[in-house]
Amino acid sequence: MEYPISITPHAERTVTDTKSIPFGKVPTEHMFVAEYRDGKWQNARITPFHDLTLSPLALCLHYGQTVFEGMKAFMMEDGRINIFRMEKHYDRFSKSLDRMCMPRVPQSLFTEAMHQLVQLDSKWVPEEADGSLYLRPFMIATEDRIGVKIADEYLFMIVASPAYQYYANPLKIKVETHFSRAADGGTGMAKCGGNYGGAFFPTQMAKEEGYDQVLWTDSKTHEFIEESGTMNAMFYIDGTLITPALSGSILDGVTRNSLLALAREQGMKVEERPLAVKELKDALEAGKRVEAFGAGTAAVIAPIASIAVDGKAYDCYVGEDATMFTLKKELYDIRTGIAPDTHKWNYVL
Ligand code: PMP
Repeated sequence: MEYPISITPHAERTVTDTKSIPFGKVPTEHMFVAEYRDGKWQNARITPFHDLTLSPLALCLHYGQTVFEGMKAFMMEDGRINIFRMEKHYDRFSKSLDRMCMPRVPQSLFTEAMHQLVQLDSKWVPEEADGSLYLRPFMIATEDRIGVKIADEYLFMIVASPAYQYYANPLKIKVETHFSRAADGGTGMAKCGGNYGGAFFPTQMAKEEGYDQVLWTDSKTHEFIEESGTMNAMFYIDGTLITPALSGSILDGVTRNSLLALAREQGMKVEERPLAVKELKDALEAGKRVEAFGAGTAAVIAPIASIAVDGKAYDCYVGEDATMFTLKKELYDIRTGIAPDTHKWNYVL
């Protein structure tokens, strides 16, 4: 193999009641690490989970060269384990790395590292229908030299943690018309750390006003909807599934992509296009049945119960027969093996 992976197993297996673990709080026993030095990836290894030793001069600590992914392994109906949509997450990881001037990870190394890590920690993959093993591949610049430059050294790592339902209740959100998550020509299409740090302040302000998160709008006019919190925003109005078209400032969500594919396949009308806040407001004011939801790996589908536009809150439809739940079930059926995997989204161990 071009990139051999050494494995040092943890002495003890200690999986306990994973259901009570808050999201991302308890890692599995193992992690994957590889180093980029002298222009190549080396020393790929799976070891017991451990803290890192970093120089305070490490460039990631200063200039934000950090990129991550979020994906999940599920238990299928027959007990086998499925790393869902691994290729698509790899592709996005690569695009994010390109945008941040960081070296790509060869796909064979990424895939083998995932496979080996999930296999070794397979006892951590929950059996419950709403459970999964959340996988976090990420890369940081480790070169120890303060100075604004593209780093020459990096660590690529994968850690894992069991995950269950992300949001307990449908969300209350507000349209954000002052702050922006991402700008034209910025890094919105990349999954880099800075995008998230920058979103905390407006999100915190929205929370203080009683909302769960913000519905981001474009940075130039604030008239067009972009994303909902850290999810893609999707709407089902008058029999049409509508989502903002990808722009440089919207993350190309894997869940979004899957839902659009499923909707198109079943003949649903699907529109990827600019969606004005006004259009949404008009539909809500006209009393139309509007389904609104966030789509993302962590929550899969997060129903939105109300949207505030200029301080006025409008209710959205979250009834059990909502189309968003049908789409969610279809995705569930594919990843658990109940429905055929015609798109080749499953990577089964
Ligand atoms: N937008 C943002 C900003 C996100 O962080 C995420 C989560 N990765 C998404 C959308 C949804 O993407 P995905 O379906 O690939 O998880």
